[in-house]
Amino acid sequence: MDCIFCKIVKDEIPSKKVLENDKFLAFHDINPIAPIHVLIIPKEHYEKFDLTPSELFSEMADFIKNVAKELNITDYRLITNNGSNAGQEVFHLHIHMVANPEGKLKWPKLV
Ligand code: 5GP
Ligand code: ZN
Repeated sequence: MDCIFCKIVKDEIPSKKVLENDKFLAFHDINPIAPIHVLIIPKEHYEKFDLTPSELFSEMADFIKNVAKELNITDYRLITNNGSNAGQEVFHLHIHMVANPEGKLKWPKLV
């Protein structure tokens, strides 16, 4: 059974795409926490950060920089929730890219 993000990769669930190549996809979060909130995923299914091959991350870093260019932003925050106690709800690796082009993002206490 495919997970929800695998279904987005296959276009079985619609998404607002920002950028795509053969290995990665960036799309807008359905429930944004900032004026810009994009999710960046590998097309291949890995459950979470610490189960993802490290080699993939250098390629993913280049892709993430291209997503920022596509969105025309220079200042942004990257977050990945690794495990349910960290806030992970979808168990397909994703990096949240959040930004506020109008000003500063808050940096709230999390506990
Ligand atoms: P997590 O809590 O796992 O780090 O983040 C999961 C994120 O996926 C949440 O921010 C949530 O709003 C987003 N999300 C969940 N389902 C969908 C969906 O079907 N489409 C989109 N675009 N985002 C989703
Ligand atoms: Zn998946």
